[in-house]
Amino acid sequence: MIPSWTRSLPALSLAAALAGCGVHPGAATVKTAAGPQAAAFTQARTVARIHFSNPAELEALEKAGVDLFENVDRAHGTVGATLTALSRPVLEKSGLKFEVLQSAEALAAKGGMPAGYRSVDQVYTELKAIAAAHPDFVKLVEIGKSLEGRSIFALNFTSKPGTGLPAVRINSGQHARELPPVELTTNLTHLLADGYGKDQNLTRLIDTRDIWIVPIVNPDGRFKVQEGNSMWRKNTRKLGMGAAGVDTNRNADDHWDGGDSMQWADDYHGEKPFSEPESSAMRDLCGKMRFKSSIDVHNFAGMILWPPGYSTDFTKDEAHFKAVGGKLADHLNYKAGTIARTIYKTYGDLSTWEYDTYGTLAFGAELADSGFSAPISEAQRDWTAWQSNFTYLIDEAGNPNAKHVTDGPKLPMPGIF
Ligand SMILES: [Zn+2]
Repeated sequence: MIPSWTRSLPALSLAAALAGCGVHPGAATVKTAAGPQAAAFTQARTVARIHFSNPAELEALEKAGVDLFENVDRAHGTVGATLTALSRPVLEKSGLKFEVLQSAEALAAKGGMPAGYRSVDQVYTELKAIAAAHPDFVKLVEIGKSLEGRSIFALNFTSKPGTGLPAVRINSGQHARELPPVELTTNLTHLLADGYGKDQNLTRLIDTRDIWIVPIVNPDGRFKVQEGNSMWRKNTRKLGMGAAGVDTNRNADDHWDGGDSMQWADDYHGEKPFSEPESSAMRDLCGKMRFKSSIDVHNFAGMILWPPGYSTDFTKDEAHFKAVGGKLADHLNYKAGTIARTIYKTYGDLSTWEYDTYGTLAFGAELADSGFSAPISEAQRDWTAWQSNFTYLIDEAGNPNAKHVTDGPKLPMPGIF
């Protein structure tokens, strides 16, 4: 049931405010307009905790453009969010209780990335060095370029390329402000490179699987974070009235219409499906490799998630998702379940699209941290806990008993390799 207060939202909503300024959310072209709301796009945010009593309230807030985090705690009825001068009135009108956890001043003082995190350049330098040192089983592949022209790199680990081994993908860095996941996936590239020929299990995996690791899907966004925009989530596409960014994880061609069409929203889904080079790069990689299993790593809710995002129904492969996802979640004490049932409905997310298109056992992970830019010690703790999860998922890609993989529709494959 949709709560009654949402009926009054259109009069107050940002969509309406923007329409008054000549901006039509979701329109193919948007004129830049000066106006009283223009400055609000660049205003600093606060971080808040919202209290709710049913999931429909969350869905209504999402639709009204409030930037909800994924750390939904249904048992206690709380969820984190960022608030701006535009979205705070929407929340206030809802009548839901909330408290501010971090002021705009505190966030600004925090600056970019905490000490110890690798920059985009550092990650790329390491990926190149690993590929150069191990040409017999590692290949550096540019799977696409970002909007600003930065390389989107994958490291491909296999000792038998092109032989049809079961393919598996691990990626992170779609959401720029989520810092720990990139540390984990970069550490994983080192673990595999250093372990081949020395560690029996890692050697077996590299000999029998086709492993793809994409540490930073959205390098432009991460640069924004490095520059001091610690709450930047999307890519950097310039939109009307100073708004910027498309959520690459809401841009896939799967129930895309249901996503957020308001350009200022932190989960803005873009002009059309796969409008963004970052999401298109992932689409093309998936189309080429037809991964048996995958995981898209985020933070900070402590969850293992799987499709569908757009519906609270289960897929026909729920039992298999639950069996594998449960193993991933259990030793970490994470929650586990479908995206729509565990957080809230999402539209155009990578995991759901990949499962629906290729039958991939496509997971999302939310690491359990104290925040998007948790101290590096938390990323190191996550890494210790996650090594066995990554190797398990890589192993699972070649499980001959898995019944999850279907042959999805063929997409045209550009020559990216
Ligand atoms: Zn995320």
